[in-house]
Amino acid sequence: MRALYLKCDVVIIGAGPSGAVAGALLSNLGYHVMIFEKQRFPRFSIGESLLPQCMHFLEKAGMLDAVEKHKFQHKNGAAFSRGNDYSEFRFSDKFSNGWDTTFQVLRSDFDMILAEQAELAGVEIHYEVYIVGMEVSDNSCRVRTQQQDGVEETIETRFVLDASGFGRVLPRLLDLELPSNFPSRVSLFTHIEDQISGTDFDRNKILICVHPSQEEVWYWLIPFSNGRCSIGVVAPTELLRGNPEKLTEELRKWISEEPRLCRILEDAKFDTPVRSIEGYSCNVKKLYGEGFALLGNAGEFLDPIFSSGVTIAMKSADLAVNVLDRQLQGHEVDWQEDFATPLKQGIDTFRAFVEAWYSGKFQDIAFTEQHSPKIKAMLCSVLAGYAWDRSNPYVKESQRRINTLAEICRSQ
Ligand code: FAD
Repeated sequence: MRALYLKCDVVIIGAGPSGAVAGALLSNLGYHVMIFEKQRFPRFSIGESLLPQCMHFLEKAGMLDAVEKHKFQHKNGAAFSRGNDYSEFRFSDKFSNGWDTTFQVLRSDFDMILAEQAELAGVEIHYEVYIVGMEVSDNSCRVRTQQQDGVEETIETRFVLDASGFGRVLPRLLDLELPSNFPSRVSLFTHIEDQISGTDFDRNKILICVHPSQEEVWYWLIPFSNGRCSIGVVAPTELLRGNPEKLTEELRKWISEEPRLCRILEDAKFDTPVRSIEGYSCNVKKLYGEGFALLGNAGEFLDPIFSSGVTIAMKSADLAVNVLDRQLQGHEVDWQEDFATPLKQGIDTFRAFVEAWYSGKFQDIAFTEQHSPKIKAMLCSVLAGYAWDRSNPYVKESQRRINTLAEICRSQ
């Protein structure tokens, strides 16, 4: 085991969307950034349906042209289905300013494009290197890395951004982990050759279907631009803990119970192994501390229902870079005021929507046809990821507004 010693301004743990965006933004500001990523890219990741709010951060990080060139599947809204009920939310109807389209992406390709763009912006990415330790003293941090052959390095840096996703490196090393308030759920998912024909299916929207008899169980169908789809089911852990040897049968059984999906996917070819992920919702005691801040899923992950993960990851990167830039220039900064509080505000908006989904309130709202266009626009905005626009009453007072609207919908 050799011990090397390197120096840089900022170390980022993980080259997923939050790490790559933060790296590019910092590098564009002139900082020397090193990302340490434990895997080799391209690598699989779940989280394929983006929200239009993401486009703002891709543009700001100088990555949008490269993403657009790839011809990912265009996305312009979300569709919800429950029995005979069906409703669509078109992002172009939204209340907030900003992008109203985005993409549905194979994350292996998307994350690699972002990482390449970060490298072009000057970020050094070291693949297949794990972060195994961190110490902070005298205004500097020492981060310990380990390569697959056991070689260790110590990097002295001014700050560490943990963008390690479900790896949750600093929450584990610094004992910051907290359980989520959400009950444990499990998801089974895969990619299929969808063979979808006919005109009643819109590839430009994610389709969310509710199980006909168990409203806590739902499915996603995310079309890609290459004739394939991501398909997944989410259920409380006690309902879905199947035999790990038979995940494909298990997923197909759940799909066979939902008539719309069953019809849409009647000719689909299940040609890829099914994966499962369990108990993914998580929280932390704090999002920052001396010498570090947590980005994206390394901080908090709510739930996949509204496809908010990548948007929150990029928003956290943008907020953190703004504060860190001022700190590295020697200004007094307030991480609570300028990072944790504003980030949490949007997360709490999504949280209110997620809670309303599982309590059935959002489902009753979604499947009510007679919303005023203004209310529909406000709901569309949150579904498009504009969860930080406090001029939207459904952002400012999410829970109260949703409760009232659900009562109105239920009394109609
Ligand atoms: P990640 O994308 O997870 O990247 C973290 C990186 O850190 C990885 O490349 C990993 O290899 C690396 N790493 C981990 N540990 C270490 C270590 N010790 N050292 C070095 N590197 C390390 N989000 C959406 O926006 N849309 C969706 O449709 C969606 N669907 C989802 C469905 C499910 C079932 C789940 C569970 C999540 C879904 N998400 C979705 C959430 C989405 O996957 C994440 O929110 C998003 O990937 C977070 O990005 P990130 O940059 O924080 O982390």
